Amino acid sequence: MGVDLGRERILVTGGAGFVGSHLIDRLIGKGHDVVCVDNLLTGSKRNIDHLHGEPRFEFMRHDVTFPLYIEVDRIFNLACPASPVQYQRDPVATTKTSVHGAINMLGLAKRLKCTILQASTSEVYGDAQVHPQTEDYWGNVNPLGPRACYDEGKRCAETLFFDYRRQYGLDIKVARIFNTYGPRMQINDGRVVSTFVVQALRGEDLTVFGDGRQTRSFCYVDDLVEGLVSLAETPDGVTGPINLGNPVENTMLELADLVLALTGSRSRLVFQPLPEDDPRQRRPDISRAQSTLGWTPGVPLAEGLKRTIDYFDTLLSAGSPDIAEPEIRAVS
Ligand code: NAD
Ligand code: UDP
Ligand code: UDP
Repeated sequence: MGVDLGRERILVTGGAGFVGSHLIDRLIGKGHDVVCVDNLLTGSKRNIDHLHGEPRFEFMRHDVTFPLYIEVDRIFNLACPASPVQYQRDPVATTKTSVHGAINMLGLAKRLKCTILQASTSEVYGDAQVHPQTEDYWGNVNPLGPRACYDEGKRCAETLFFDYRRQYGLDIKVARIFNTYGPRMQINDGRVVSTFVVQALRGEDLTVFGDGRQTRSFCYVDDLVEGLVSLAETPDGVTGPINLGNPVENTMLELADLVLALTGSRSRLVFQPLPEDDPRQRRPDISRAQSTLGWTPGVPLAEGLKRTIDYFDTLLSAGSPDIAEPEIRAVS
């Protein structure tokens, strides 16, 4: 059983991003006031356009690596680029966002004595040698490779969260999010679902990295948001970490075939080199989320992909100038 949040003023960092904007919709729908803090690095005003004029919503353009003094009742800390292509563009900034951002948001939570939830990631498990991944697995991360800015940044943020709990008694919640997809992903952010869908809709080749036999488990964004809100509503002492993701595992070849079938596209598959340190297999063990939160994702991949395809189809048909050409292709 969760605690009833009542009407609160809630800070969502990274709120103009893909997941953050859906989370904000859900929180406003539950009757809360929301402050969205975002520097628009990988997010977009388009994701929060529909909230313009909504009295419960406030947007602050701000970088979480700098201190933030505001008054709120609860914090969701999501600010951080999440796509490998994006987080590797400026790796130093990525680590700063995870680490300095966590310190500032934890300092804010400490002053306000409020609950803070961290959007952590399955990347803390790295190229996992335990499958499926359970929360007590410590992971297999290359600390020197191109993904380390994100993986180690997120690992350090988790360390900070647990130290603020031990040292100052903060009410922390850590969600380890597995690959999530849906409407409002950036059209050119390089993540596999948005990339395949956009390529298929444009009739371009689908770029499969490696032999395409590596696996991921894809969670539809509405399911993830439900899990995040449930975790935030748990009583003090339920800290996680808790895996949130869909336990159905697919190869990238299966994903490509499904996208082609659902779009009716005649695009071909082209194979490109596998990026360095790309994890070979990933699937969450969600027993902890099921027993602690009563949470299980409900949207099957084909259904979630249909909604995602509809979103990108509409966006592409609208022909907005900022989406004319994908500026990013692959990590080399
Ligand atoms: P996203 O890139 O769409 O959103 C991240 C948001 O953070 C963007 O709006 C960006 O502008 C903002 N941001 C980045 N650096 C910032 C900074 N220094 N200050 C303020 N804002 C900043 O990514 P997303 O998929 O929505 O991911 C949201 C969170 O969930 C991230 O923390 C990510 O690590 C985590 N996560 C996501 C997934 C996924 O599959 N979507 C998986 C694991 C973890
Ligand atoms: N901080 C913030 N907002 C606040 C309180 C703190 O941004 O309302 C930042 C501030 O930059 C500080 C950091 O959070 O350096 C960590 O705060 P904490 O109180 O843990 O540490 P200290 O202030 O002692 O360095
Ligand atoms: N991938 C791919 N083609 C692309 C983009 C990604 O085959 O155009 C693969 C990538 O190598 C990885 C998987 O899809 O194995 C998921 O990649 P993504 O960047 O979405 O997320 P990750 O889980 O690697 O952070």
